[in-house]
Amino acid sequence: MTLVHHPVHLVGAGPGDPELLTLKALRVLREATVVLVDDLVGDGVLELAFDGLAARPRLVHVGKRGGCASTPQEFIEKLMVREALAGEKVVRLKGGDPLVFGRAGEEIAALRAAGLEAVVVNGITSGLGAAAALGIGWTDRRVDARGVLLVTGHTREDSDGQDWEAIGRAAAAGVTLVVYMGISQIRGIVERLLRVLPADLPAAVVQHVGSERERSARATLGGLVDVVAAHGFGSPAILLIGRVAEEARTAAASRMTSMYITS
Ligand code: SAH
Repeated sequence: MTLVHHPVHLVGAGPGDPELLTLKALRVLREATVVLVDDLVGDGVLELAFDGLAARPRLVHVGKRGGCASTPQEFIEKLMVREALAGEKVVRLKGGDPLVFGRAGEEIAALRAAGLEAVVVNGITSGLGAAAALGIGWTDRRVDARGVLLVTGHTREDSDGQDWEAIGRAAAAGVTLVVYMGISQIRGIVERLLRVLPADLPAAVVQHVGSERERSARATLGGLVDVVAAHGFGSPAILLIGRVAEEARTAAASRMTSMYITS
């Protein structure tokens, strides 16, 4: 008897709110026998996905944070391949969308090299979730926003880093900047952007998009570092920079708290 190899699904869990899971994500999660979970995946997502299942899949937490420093990427890829070759229905569940700063490229390559099929199921990326949380569009025509640039604040150690002046010039040309992993380097990022952008350019920060701990603040580019420090914003957070942030509606408290306040 030959062993059937199922395709491995790389699934986006969205920014945190379980209701933002796609129907396809929900289906493949419920059919899975092994799920490799990233630490940016909200707990509510797993609760919803496995609700009422007679046999839950085996969960493997392969987060990059938490107790130990990190699960090496190579280990995750080997595990994924091993389980799939053993006939398991493997889902690799990631926060946001797997294709946005999610290392999906490496994982797809590892699967292909092992003769396995990789299927990507999109999720809503946290930068888009952040825009929804603020009630602003990435490409608001009223302020002539002409596009959007998703950038990381953290580049590979062996690279020469981001060219923030070039990125700033894109913003000066009307492109909205959405910065992932930007908090730890925020001082340097803002300092370099200010070389080519006005200090009064609107900006906003949103932490824990889509969870009960979600909170946000609006600032100007010149004041962004102080606002982030004053409110103690930490990772995971999204920085949104551009004129579209002018109309950002922010909430310092969690959604739960504001619900209690207003009711
Ligand atoms: N694939 C993910 C991004 C992974 S990189 C996506 O599409 O969203 C990790 C970075 O994503 C974090 O440092 C943070 O900048 C951002 N991020 C992920 N989840 C987030 C969340 N719930 N709230 C705010 N930022 C988030």
